[in-house]
Amino acid sequence: MIKHLRSAADLDAATATLILDTAGEMASLAGREVKKLPTLRGRTVVNLFYEDSTRTRISFEAAAKRLSADVINFSAKGSSVSKGESLKDTALTLQAMGADAVVIRHQASGAPHRLAAWVDGSVINAGDGTHEHPTQALLDAYTMRSRLGRLDGLRVAIVGDVLHSRVARSNVLLLTTLGASVTLVGPPTLIPLDVAALSRSTKVSYDLDSVLPDMDVVMMLRVQTERMQDSFFPSAREYSRRYGLDLARMRRLPEHAIVMHPGPMNRGMEIAPEVADSSRSTIVEQVANGVSARMAVLYLLLGGKA
Ligand code: ASP
Repeated sequence: MIKHLRSAADLDAATATLILDTAGEMASLAGREVKKLPTLRGRTVVNLFYEDSTRTRISFEAAAKRLSADVINFSAKGSSVSKGESLKDTALTLQAMGADAVVIRHQASGAPHRLAAWVDGSVINAGDGTHEHPTQALLDAYTMRSRLGRLDGLRVAIVGDVLHSRVARSNVLLLTTLGASVTLVGPPTLIPLDVAALSRSTKVSYDLDSVLPDMDVVMMLRVQTERMQDSFFPSAREYSRRYGLDLARMRRLPEHAIVMHPGPMNRGMEIAPEVADSSRSTIVEQVANGVSARMAVLYLLLGGKA
């Protein structure tokens, strides 16, 4: 088993499949009255969050607690980071406290790689800048596999602000490793060539309507205005008209196809509320599956057996 999960590229098909299978075992716990396993008793998991988060942070905390680990939550706000302490000095403090795993979210791409050089424990990337978010890709793959029964041969459209999306990067890497084919869709200004080049089979389209009838999965991305210094499209209304998923567009999908979104959503912009709340939407399921996927990652990286 790998020691760190810094990128979805750390996962080969066998390792990724083992994590998804283990997540399935973990999910069966969720239906029990007592949801805890004693597996990580006495181990310490630190959640080190330099950027805002709702789902990912709560999800990692729930995952570690369900495995009986001791959990330390650290947020940059209210810590010595606001006094200018460097990531390295914070890492050395965590090291001195004996962290077995550090879950890090950071605004700088590559921060988990740096951290892994400074701590002895496992480092898990919970989102670094616009770079990667590998556990999101795992929970997305898990959701697709449980809804559609397979990943191999699945046709997945990833739609919208690919440029600023760490979710898109990690999904392209993981899904293509597992045999799915990915089409990136959005305005040319938001589809960087380096993401398309992450795997040879990945395609690009600027026309959402023509792509939808051939897809098994459509994954809508949030338009990340907080990371935009330029204007990448004429107006929110124009964006929504061309690339927003509304009911009429959703009807172009094959009947079995599912609609995903990593959250948080801009309802009415990239996704219409009626689509987000429809029976094809897996958005709430993705959140629930996130806990199982992160339990599997913590369990396996910290030495659990398959
Ligand atoms: N929650 C995801 C992330 O942290 C997606 C998003 O923010 O749009 O990358």
